[in-house]
Amino acid sequence: MSHTEDCIFCKIAAGEIPSAKVYEDEHVYAFLDLSQVTKGHTLIIPKKHTKNIYETQPDVAQELFKKVPKVANAIKEAFQPVGLNLLNNNEEPAGQSVFHLHIHLIPRYGKGDGFD
Ligand code: 5GP
Ligand code: ZN
Repeated sequence: MSHTEDCIFCKIAAGEIPSAKVYEDEHVYAFLDLSQVTKGHTLIIPKKHTKNIYETQPDVAQELFKKVPKVANAIKEAFQPVGLNLLNNNEEPAGQSVFHLHIHLIPRYGKGDGFD
């Protein structure tokens, strides 16, 4: 696994910074977002460091997206939302604040759930 010294998500994937793990395998790590937009708000990341979608190799993207349905279903089972949004921010003007590729999985609970 490549590890970028000062990357917070590399440290989370390596277990050097604690996180609430949702799913993990050889290629990806999924964990609850620190600031829960809605209950069960989860991030899934590749273990291999890549800044954002522009710099992501196809094999890394493939492994990451391959696991999204599994994590979405784990969230569905655990939190019983009525829907779910996927979100991926690339570059600062688009809202990216951590520069290690991640996909937000945001469970939805209907009107007024905090993500309107
Ligand atoms: P972005 O704004 O880059 O799309 O999303 C970064 C997300 O990472 C934010 O929603 C933020 O709450 C989350 N985040 C930042 N630092 C940490 C951390 O140390 N632990 C966890 N679990 N989430 C974090
Ligand atoms: Zn990283």
